[in-house]
Amino acid sequence: MKICIDPGHGGTDPGAIGKDPFVLNEKDVTLSISLLLKTELEDKGHTVVLTRDKDVAVSLSNRAKIANQNNVDIFISIHCNSSENKDAEGIETWIFPNSTVGKKLAEPVQNSLVTAFPNHKKRGIREDNFQVLRETNMPAILVECEFISNPTQLKFLSDKDNQEKIAKAITSAI
Ligand SMILES: [Zn+2]
Repeated sequence: MKICIDPGHGGTDPGAIGKDPFVLNEKDVTLSISLLLKTELEDKGHTVVLTRDKDVAVSLSNRAKIANQNNVDIFISIHCNSSENKDAEGIETWIFPNSTVGKKLAEPVQNSLVTAFPNHKKRGIREDNFQVLRETNMPAILVECEFISNPTQLKFLSDKDNQEKIAKAITSAI
């Protein structure tokens, strides 16, 4: 398959900024996981298109345009969650409202992630009218890989082994 991976945020847009127990920008975690995911998917013989491969800003419409112009089979946006509530935690996957093909992609990915990380809260599949989900022409999901606002989960997200495990879990679902 030809797969578009979309590392959330970048450049002047840091995404959510975790501050406890140390500073961690969402844009750096999403890029790191996405680059690992690219390697894993390519190892399985897939072709990967990234919406960014370095710390640059890319508009939401351009992210969708990159996927559409490359005629990819599926689109996966990688993000970290954030909340005012420091205790909020868990893994969730988003699809465009009522998207049957989105759900078909989201279910194995969400299941694979919560199976790989059994101690993490299962927040399930959620639906919203996100621009990258709306404007992409192919099955599209947005994965929220834990909360950067939760000190325990910030440490989890910063850990390269965990990032690798996330990449492997998504790949096995694909
Ligand atoms: Zn984000």
